[in-house]
Amino acid sequence: MPKKHKVLLIRCASYDPGKISGIIKEGMQELGVKPYGRVMLKPNVVIAHKDYFPHAYTRSEFLEGTLDATKHQSENIKELSVGERSGITIPTRFSFKNARYPQVIKKYKAKTYYFDEERQVPVKLMNEHAIRNNIFVPESISKTDFLINLPKFKAHPWTRMTLSLKNYIGIQDDRHRLVDHNQFLEHKIADLQEVIPSKFIAVDAIIAGEKMMLTPDPFPMGVIMMGTNSCAIDTVGCHMVNMDPNTLIHLKITAQRGYGPIDINDIEIGGDFPLEELQENNKNFRFCLERIDNYFNVKGNLTCTVGTFPEQHSRDYCWGGCPGSLQESIHIYKTAHPDVLKKIKKIRYVVGQVEGDLDLQEDERVLFAGNCTSYKGKLNGSFVTINSTYKTSSEINVRKTKSNDMVKRTFITMKNVLFNRKKRYLRAKGCPVSVADHVHYISGLGDIPNMNFEPKLMLLSNLAYLQMRIMRFLNRFF
Ligand code: SF4
Repeated sequence: MPKKHKVLLIRCASYDPGKISGIIKEGMQELGVKPYGRVMLKPNVVIAHKDYFPHAYTRSEFLEGTLDATKHQSENIKELSVGERSGITIPTRFSFKNARYPQVIKKYKAKTYYFDEERQVPVKLMNEHAIRNNIFVPESISKTDFLINLPKFKAHPWTRMTLSLKNYIGIQDDRHRLVDHNQFLEHKIADLQEVIPSKFIAVDAIIAGEKMMLTPDPFPMGVIMMGTNSCAIDTVGCHMVNMDPNTLIHLKITAQRGYGPIDINDIEIGGDFPLEELQENNKNFRFCLERIDNYFNVKGNLTCTVGTFPEQHSRDYCWGGCPGSLQESIHIYKTAHPDVLKKIKKIRYVVGQVEGDLDLQEDERVLFAGNCTSYKGKLNGSFVTINSTYKTSSEINVRKTKSNDMVKRTFITMKNVLFNRKKRYLRAKGCPVSVADHVHYISGLGDIPNMNFEPKLMLLSNLAYLQMRIMRFLNRFF
């Protein structure tokens, strides 16, 4: 009988780096983990800011504890590094600084890899079910011998949960990250697993995140999960919040491709925190896998019309793309304007192939979001045609992807808003339309201050952007 993958669940109620280090050292010893060669720690720092995004990321104390344990347990280490690409086009430098990572990285004399500043290289995918033959990743990832995956335990509006497997979305820079970040998101996550295995995983579930992934509500769970197989970790993680692992689609696809188990009976669970006790504690853990036409339509001045979608496997909804971006962008606004849905002017958000006339209120403007959206009908008495420009996965060449540069995207979206300010509707292009673009569009159509330009965020993010551009340029030559 093949040996079962082991997952450890260890109690830890506080962010004490010394305690975390002790737990992770013992975990590594029990699991027989001895990092070697070029060792990289990959946390989840999708975004970080003490006022707006305090619970979105793997905490610096967790990183510190893991760096300490890794140094203690390593054999023949050639390089110790921390690497990540933040989300929503924000420079990773900005998020690392806000997460207080640089101090910790310096203390352990580790190297930092900001993936958005690096050269991106292709990796050939061999799995017969992969949706692509090649996938681009930062050079440092392609050279890593030993990847230590440090996810944050969070709910997620696109995929229901983000744990070990989903954390791989952060190994791609934006030019490649947003490719297939649509109805193929779950398949993309499975594809990424082939690039590099996680040889050790420690999940920061000391304070988990409920509902959203950028602006989650804190949920004290008081546990550190550890293991050596991402599917096993994600399977146990699902059970911890009373969720059937088969409903975590990227886990199901990844397990079907042979990367690990999805059946709890195929996993040995150890540690001092019984799964049953966690299930009882977490029975009120909240997710946010809700369609936007249900989620927003009763709550204020934003209403959504959702059509049908291009891909056979999910005709009725696009879980991996524009609708989830809209949800995240509204929740970003809520951090500064809790009553945003009442404050904005009336917006009708239209996504997918929509048949029949839109029944609009007098002062309601329309955002046709995403390349797959199409509409033929009357708006304000005039006939309007919006054609789909959607391309399926096989029609997109990953070697010719467009830049999703933060400043460039800001200019494009602001210009779109400005030039069409007198029109009844706007068309937002992209597949997906990113969270940052949604923030611009909501501000333009809803006539509220733009969160992308919040003084506390803008100054430092633009400074980080300039540094990122300079380093990216220099890294072409070295
Ligand atoms: S345009 Fe948006 S909604 Fe349409 S398939 Fe792409 S990501 Fe999904």
